[in-house]
Amino acid sequence: MHVANAQHTYTRTLKLMGSRFDITVVTETKEDGNAYIDLAINEITRIEKLISSWDTQSQTSQVNSNAGIEPIQVDPELFALIERAIGISKLTDGAFDITYAAMDKIWKFDGSMTEMPNESTIKASIAKVGYKNIVLNKESGTVFLTKKGMKIGFGAIGKGYAADKAKALLISKGVKAGIINASGDMNTWGTQISGEPWKVAITNPMDKSKVFALLPIKEEAVVTSGNYEKFVVFNGKRYTHIIDPRTGFPSSGIISATVFAPKAELADALATSVFVMGIEVGLDRINQLPKIECIIIDDKGRIYTSNNIKIDTP
Ligand code: ADP
Ligand code: MG
Repeated sequence: MHVANAQHTYTRTLKLMGSRFDITVVTETKEDGNAYIDLAINEITRIEKLISSWDTQSQTSQVNSNAGIEPIQVDPELFALIERAIGISKLTDGAFDITYAAMDKIWKFDGSMTEMPNESTIKASIAKVGYKNIVLNKESGTVFLTKKGMKIGFGAIGKGYAADKAKALLISKGVKAGIINASGDMNTWGTQISGEPWKVAITNPMDKSKVFALLPIKEEAVVTSGNYEKFVVFNGKRYTHIIDPRTGFPSSGIISATVFAPKAELADALATSVFVMGIEVGLDRINQLPKIECIIIDDKGRIYTSNNIKIDTP
């Protein structure tokens, strides 16, 4: 008779990609658990080196510093990520746009801003923005940003992508269950040791101490956008760190958006997009996409859900 060895859950918390990561694996021994967590960390660090726009040595930085100058050959992996990011821009009518990065300089969400940038500064900032000005050449594997001063950044998709890759790597090594949690970008596979599905707690940013829903997640990702700390207030209106690439203004009205999707990358990008699209358009768009759901909380604390999510709102 074969008796399965007991399984245990191991978790490590650390800072990667400038964010808190909690990596959880279910394995038989602590040695295995540690070794697999190390593998995941190496993978996430590798991706960070490729996509970081802070690291001046990264391929992403080379693409940015050659904007308006010349196409840069990049890894097929980075090429494909940019290609998918452009696909999400099309899906969201430009609400999601990795070229948002050129607007970064005029808005600060760390409390240091005392007045709104003026109209003309904002207008000027979007002149360098637009995914349509990214030219990809499949044959040569090059990326070209056509306008000088243009920049791409993966702030709204990178953590999700890294979580997807780490999860895929651990599955390929035979790890039966786990969670990669990148500051609220959760990607799960398998189940808890008890056989129960992993669960994600949804809190209302208006009252973080109260969990209003505990939802099961099976082989999928759930991502929440809406860092309660990053925002500015002008004339009583609260603006988040997510900027509408079409207007140059930070979005307002929504304080938290949670998206469920088969992949963390798409969930991450869509959670950001929902902020820009707003409640009505955001829900409508999500309802049209198969296997994607969302929960939105507005600045009055009201909760909205897509068609297939049923929660008892308090
Ligand atoms: P967080 O990781 O802080 O919860 P998100 O995943 O929503 O938030 O990503 C927000 C980040 O995405 C911003 O800090 C910025 O780097 C970038 N960003 C802001 N606006 C956009 C946009 N419209 N499209 C793509 N990326 C954006
Ligand atoms: Mg995001």
